[in-house]
Amino acid sequence: MTANRTPGKVNEDTTLIDAEMMGIPGIMSIYLIEAGKKCLIDSGTHIEARKTFKKLKELNFFPPDIIIITHSHWDHVQAIPFLSQRAKKLGKKIEIYASEAAIPNLRDQSFNNVFETGPFNNIEEDIITLKEGDTVDLDGLILKIFETPGHMNDDISILDEKNKNLFVGDILGMKVADNVFVPPFMPPKCNPEAYFKTIDKLKKIDYETISLHHFGYIYDEEARSILDESIANNELYWKAYEENTDHLDDIPYLIENVMEKLIPKSTLENYPEMLVTGVTYWLSQGFKIYKGL
Ligand SMILES: [Zn+2]
Repeated sequence: MTANRTPGKVNEDTTLIDAEMMGIPGIMSIYLIEAGKKCLIDSGTHIEARKTFKKLKELNFFPPDIIIITHSHWDHVQAIPFLSQRAKKLGKKIEIYASEAAIPNLRDQSFNNVFETGPFNNIEEDIITLKEGDTVDLDGLILKIFETPGHMNDDISILDEKNKNLFVGDILGMKVADNVFVPPFMPPKCNPEAYFKTIDKLKKIDYETISLHHFGYIYDEEARSILDESIANNELYWKAYEENTDHLDDIPYLIENVMEKLIPKSTLENYPEMLVTGVTYWLSQGFKIYKGL
């Protein structure tokens, strides 16, 4: 096994903390990079914002100087207003970075209603926009930005050039256990053509480890082979959903006939019903968008 899902050091500059999304450990990571400046990669959800704030304080990491957003889905950005307010109380301003394409999505977060986990606050904070090839200097550590859409229309990947660690957001999917790899076709803005182009682009990047938000970091050979694994996994889910196109709105049916074939039942039982139902629904909606149904 070459994935590491234990919170703690990813390399000498980067730490993984578990955001415990929906109260479940091991499904949502936030990354802290510390050089001359402190930088968070994504923020986690609004529900866990207070807990995240406490964890950051314990690690002497609050306030960070910078938060970089990999994409504008709610679970990556909704803690930002709370964290910004707390920083403000200390007289500090957190600089928020996101891709240009993310700006309209951050200003109007209502597209996240498709996940039914709201309410969602719009992100009103000032945003510094990033585009392909830009760099963010953390005083001693350079982060390079790649536009990698597909899971959303505004995904970026971030390369820590010193440690050759690549933060890919959710573009490869959600690999929360060795036998649970949920594909990245998520509503409402996923795009299959962009996804395949993005995988080709990632193949050309000189990186050695990959950091996933769902969940943990991947090193050694799997850090490279996970790109093809993501495509194969996507196809597997596609095929299974395709065989059940007549039942895309029947979530219990899909759990029984699609998910239980892809994820061992014993593993599925480790997750709360609400999460299994949610993921199955999100995938069915994403599948419809992917297939133009
Ligand atoms: Zn996402």
